Amino acid sequence: MENCIFCKIIAGEIPSAKVYEDELVYAFLDISPINKGHVLVIPKEHHESVAAVDEATVGRMMKIGSRIGIALKRELEADAYNLHLADGTAAGQVVMHAHLHIVPRWIEDGFHWNWRQLSYADGEMAEISEKLAQRIAKKAE
Ligand code: 5GP
Ligand code: ZN
Repeated sequence: MENCIFCKIIAGEIPSAKVYEDELVYAFLDISPINKGHVLVIPKEHHESVAAVDEATVGRMMKIGSRIGIALKRELEADAYNLHLADGTAAGQVVMHAHLHIVPRWIEDGFHWNWRQLSYADGEMAEISEKLAQRIAKKAE
């Protein structure tokens, strides 16, 4: 897609530090990493949302993402890695070409996810889960 920075990277119009490529996906170092070695895996076909990417390609993104995570542990001696995907602006997506982040992690690397833990009112969990289950079942029909 025109004016998409990641499509330009796939096409070689913008340079990137490539770590993997096949017929479905392309993986390269994030230019502003959370930790050094932070990789992005992207589908070769342009889609804003991962929900629009075909199942085989999403599967490949996850599979290669974990292979990259293991490579980060072996090559950079990372202690662990996070897989992160922001789908939509409110979720923190800035580049509107679907992408999976693989972030190498070290104990005491100084980075913390801002994870909070809310609680549900009585009956609220059942209400939300039932609504979601119905919606998901409709989609699968
Ligand atoms: P998002 O916030 O959309 O989940 O992540 C987009 C990521 O793309 C950011 O972490 C940002 O550093 C990275 N990024 C943006 N532009 C470029 C670029 O031109 N080259 C590379 N390698 N990474 C980029
Ligand atoms: Zn694109």
